[in-house]
Amino acid sequence: MKLVRYGESGREKPGLLGAGGVLRSLEHVVDDIGGDALSAASLARIAALDLEQLPRVADVPRYGPAVARVGKMICVGLNYADHAAESGMPVPKEPVLFMKATTAITGPNDPVLIPRGSVKTDWEVELGVVIGDIARDVSVDSALDYVAGYLVVNDVSEREFQLERGGQWVKGKSFDTFAPIGPWLVTRDEVPDPQNLAMWLEVDGHRYQNGNTRTMVFGVGSCVSYISRFMTLMPGDIISTGTPPGVGLGQRPPVYLRPGSVMELEIEGLGRQRQVTVAARGSS
Ligand code: ZN
Repeated sequence: MKLVRYGESGREKPGLLGAGGVLRSLEHVVDDIGGDALSAASLARIAALDLEQLPRVADVPRYGPAVARVGKMICVGLNYADHAAESGMPVPKEPVLFMKATTAITGPNDPVLIPRGSVKTDWEVELGVVIGDIARDVSVDSALDYVAGYLVVNDVSEREFQLERGGQWVKGKSFDTFAPIGPWLVTRDEVPDPQNLAMWLEVDGHRYQNGNTRTMVFGVGSCVSYISRFMTLMPGDIISTGTPPGVGLGQRPPVYLRPGSVMELEIEGLGRQRQVTVAARGSS
């Protein structure tokens, strides 16, 4: 299933993209696409519905973030060997983890803000893993049982804030709008092999990233299992699994986003995002 949230920002409704791209409302089925609605039992209940009975949504709406009430967003750093190389970092022996503030989450086609004073705002197309059932110290073999599905994440990153201002990477990863997610949450049954998905990202029509999840250092099951040893993963939590090569920091010379830049990115079977960047205005 392709689960979506549609409508104006902050007032999104749950929906399902059916055959032929017909959007149907799940308003009277689940309260939202998030939390307990993502459990295996809940997804099975939705899958058993007669879709023809669900109301059609006529207008083409805005898509919001595909998951509501995300409790935490955990990112895996340097998880593609060739991206580690372009960043001048060694391939990690264990997954590198960092957090991204959930206030950064935004719709897949919403504008992305360039922070005040930023000169190094960058892009990262990533496979996002959405947790469906509580995962606490789970094995690699069983890890995917706790996954509701997958979505596209743009792990937008301010490299100066991340790498040159001291402290943790979270500083460069968390600005408002730095986490477009969606357009859809594609349930796990429709992604039989998450380690074989083509992915790309273009800025102003130039293809900078062109990768495949098969070159991940630590695969989805390993990441879920590993993280669950250090913290409990809750329904609606998102793991962003790292980016392939081709980020702006890795260009010679580096290339960064400016107001008016257009990012387009896609992962095979998970849909496409498009964001235009705009300068953030400071509050007075
Ligand atoms: Zn990343």
